[in-house]
Amino acid sequence: MKDTEKTTGAGPARRSRTKLVHGGTQRSHWGELSEAIFLTQGFAYESAEQAERRFVKAEEGEYIYARYGNPTVRMFEERIALLEGCEDAFATASGMAAVNGALMAHLKAGDHVVGARALFGSCLYILEEILPRFGVEVTLVDGTDLAAWEAALRPDTKAVFFESMSNPVLDLVDIAGVAALAHAVGATVIVDNVFSTPVYSRAIADGADVVIYSATKHIDGQGRTLGGVILGSRDFIRKVVEPYMKHTGGSMSPFTAWVLLKGLETIDLRVRAQTAAAGLLADRLAGHPKLARVIYPGRADHPQHALAERQMGAGGTMLSFEVAGGKEAAFRFLNALEVVLISNNLGDAKSIATHPATTTHQRLAPETRAALGIGEGLVRLSVGLEDPEDLAEDILAALDAV
Ligand SMILES: *Cc1c(COP(=O)(O)O)cnc(C)c1O
Repeated sequence: MKDTEKTTGAGPARRSRTKLVHGGTQRSHWGELSEAIFLTQGFAYESAEQAERRFVKAEEGEYIYARYGNPTVRMFEERIALLEGCEDAFATASGMAAVNGALMAHLKAGDHVVGARALFGSCLYILEEILPRFGVEVTLVDGTDLAAWEAALRPDTKAVFFESMSNPVLDLVDIAGVAALAHAVGATVIVDNVFSTPVYSRAIADGADVVIYSATKHIDGQGRTLGGVILGSRDFIRKVVEPYMKHTGGSMSPFTAWVLLKGLETIDLRVRAQTAAAGLLADRLAGHPKLARVIYPGRADHPQHALAERQMGAGGTMLSFEVAGGKEAAFRFLNALEVVLISNNLGDAKSIATHPATTTHQRLAPETRAALGIGEGLVRLSVGLEDPEDLAEDILAALDAV
């Protein structure tokens, strides 16, 4: 059998949408048009010598075991690395396997980490509960406050970790600002960039060293699978991340990689359409008498609108608003929705409304929620691909029911 051949149609010089369709593709001798799913955990060797040599050092395109690497997974890694503008990537079983892998592979007992306080619940659990158990000291700060980052950073700070746009109140962290401060003490900048999406990401240019996505969100974009990815320099991915991931079992399955490869083909179109709809809905909802506030970084009334423009060039696919009247009013609104679904995924083709105080953030103490701006009436909306006018009608009718 001939070696697989790499597509030459999508090198680093091509534009994003071309990379998303062709990047990383490897074809077998059949010349299949669509990416093949190599549903195999292992690989047969032509000889004992070949097996021996491959275990000493597997070259690019040589595989041993799917926990270490697989051709379909490799296509996904190469495609997303091309898009992000990174040297390399490691695909993981979920977004949390990526967050855990990047941190645990990089840190050891005695290290110090500074993180933003407004984090996805499981990320907060790793920083507050798991890392300290292994002797890593963690300081949490208000991610929007550069002075707080500066005050918390120390000569022994090994990494900073934050979400570039926080969930669910859509506060932005200034990647370039934090990276300049972190690099001054030699800390690695690890950014969870889910809410910014790979489409609007400029994280590497802004100074991030490592970028993480939960591919479960916009990269799949159709709610089918869990997945994640760690992106960074070839040295970081191959010498730090890969040994940790391949021996601890958080690798992506080939079938998942195939779903996500197909997701990448359409992500640019989907995310831009979802963003346009989110902007339209934010404008229609702003000033609505049943709402205490509307939060959308793409609107000029968002306190960090200028940062959103510089960092993402867009407002993104997420929108939050506070229904006046607290939990009861928010529940009445949610229960009156007909098109928008009540769930907790995001970045999906289906629009999804979430009540963070009673679901994703219910573990937090009420004071902590209040300090993070998560009120009892807050609703987070992930805007999907339905006709924006149907979404507007649905949401406005549901508000009438409050
Ligand atoms: C969903 C999410 C994660 C975790 O991803 P999974 O794929 O669910 O493991 C991490 N960070 C952010 C910001 C997320 O939204």
